[in-house]
Amino acid sequence: MYTDIAVIGGGASGLAAAIGAKTENPVLSVTVFEKLDRVGKKLLSTGNGRCNLSSRSLVSEHYHGSVKNLMEIIKNTSSAEEFFMTMGVPVISDEQGRMYPRSESAAAVLRSLRMRTSELGITEVCGFELAEIRRSKRGYIITSKSGATAECRCIIAAAGGYAAPQLGTDGSVMRIFRDMGYKTAKICPAVAPLKVSPDKLKGLKGVRVKGAVSAVSGGKILKTEQGEIQFTESALSGICVFNLARFFNEYEVGLALRLDLAADIEKAELIDYLERVSTQRAAYPLEELLTGFFPKNLAVYLVKNTFNRPLTEKISTLGKRDIIALADRIKSLEFEISGCSSWNNAQVTAGGIHGSCVDNELQSVRDRGIYFCGEILDADGDCGGYNLQWAWSSGLWAGSNCARSLKGAKR
Ligand SMILES: Cc1cc2nc3c(=O)[nH]c(=O)nc-3n(C[C@H](O)[C@H](O)[C@H](O)COP(=O)(O)OP(=O)(O)OC[C@H]3O[C@@H](n4cnc5c(N)ncnc54)[C@H](O)[C@@H]3O)c2cc1C
Repeated sequence: MYTDIAVIGGGASGLAAAIGAKTENPVLSVTVFEKLDRVGKKLLSTGNGRCNLSSRSLVSEHYHGSVKNLMEIIKNTSSAEEFFMTMGVPVISDEQGRMYPRSESAAAVLRSLRMRTSELGITEVCGFELAEIRRSKRGYIITSKSGATAECRCIIAAAGGYAAPQLGTDGSVMRIFRDMGYKTAKICPAVAPLKVSPDKLKGLKGVRVKGAVSAVSGGKILKTEQGEIQFTESALSGICVFNLARFFNEYEVGLALRLDLAADIEKAELIDYLERVSTQRAAYPLEELLTGFFPKNLAVYLVKNTFNRPLTEKISTLGKRDIIALADRIKSLEFEISGCSSWNNAQVTAGGIHGSCVDNELQSVRDRGIYFCGEILDADGDCGGYNLQWAWSSGLWAGSNCARSLKGAKR
């Protein structure tokens, strides 16, 4: 088989790259080679099936990694709104500026992308798991794990990272490039829950509460995020925790999460409230002290872990010091982090093909004709639409630059 451009990986960035290439230069043949039996499987799971496809606040603080012109690429490619409008998909946003398709359906986003690739005459080859890249007279020969081959003039590597291997991404293509001599930045899960020893979370499984979470190391606050904190049997989860996961990479030992479970209330005000309610409920057992303030399991957990006495004791036994200790616990509940979640539970990969391996067009500096886009690169964003925006922008950028490089070139 021959194709002018071989896009490796039919995920968000690969589909955008194919569309970008074919739109730039319609005479070229563009083929997407996908390992799984169909393209875009991961897209279907994004945003809990709603596809948080971009954000209204696309600023550099939300992006990480070594691709120097990442923000220029985002600014100089179509916005998600424009890109999806060309496919007839209007985009809406919530109060946090997270952008979704109007239908709030990830399946509809994938369907629209595939209608577009089909209109443009882009070929899909599924069940092709790239295993080897070799140079040829015309450009490159790619070989799949099962021995199928294709020749092409250019390659766009869009095969993602390590996160969510159950959805096709196990870092295999990153390893192929590493074996070819490419430098990679340290790889670790990002946008992921953080593990806590299960005995510290006893009784909290399933609790969800709004608050502030700070990543803390050596007593120093590294970053604070606000939002819904979720407790599982062995991890802290929720978008605010996801956005702190990357610190585990830097501070493996000695990273803690400090939770302020009443971030909307000053400590003095909280103490006033606790004093009032303890007078009002004086005759009730301790386990009722925080009833109505927190979900039941969290209310009991806090009282139990602060006072260390039978929950059947009366609230009237509490003194001013106890009330202050409880307020401290509510405003500063700390959990030592024992690990980052597995790749299966991570949404994004931090690290990847180092930015120094590509030029401003996302073309390899050592192998001309090979381009990169999406999560395979050392570029990742916070939770909130930033990663898909990078996938669309880098895909369109790599695709159109690749197609432009072939304009007028001999076939
Ligand atoms: C559960 C979940 C929810 C998410 N929700 C959001 C969200 O709402 N908003 C957001 O911004 N981001 C979200 N993300 C992150 C976002 O989906 C990714 O950052 C984005 O999909 C990356 O795009 P990509 O094209 O680089 O890689 P992918 O979309 O991962 O696509 C890579 C493709 O390459 C294929 N492939 C892998 N190896 C090979 C090979 N050897 N040969 C051929 N093909 C191969 C894979 O099967 C896959 O189809 C979520 C991620 C997960 C896991």
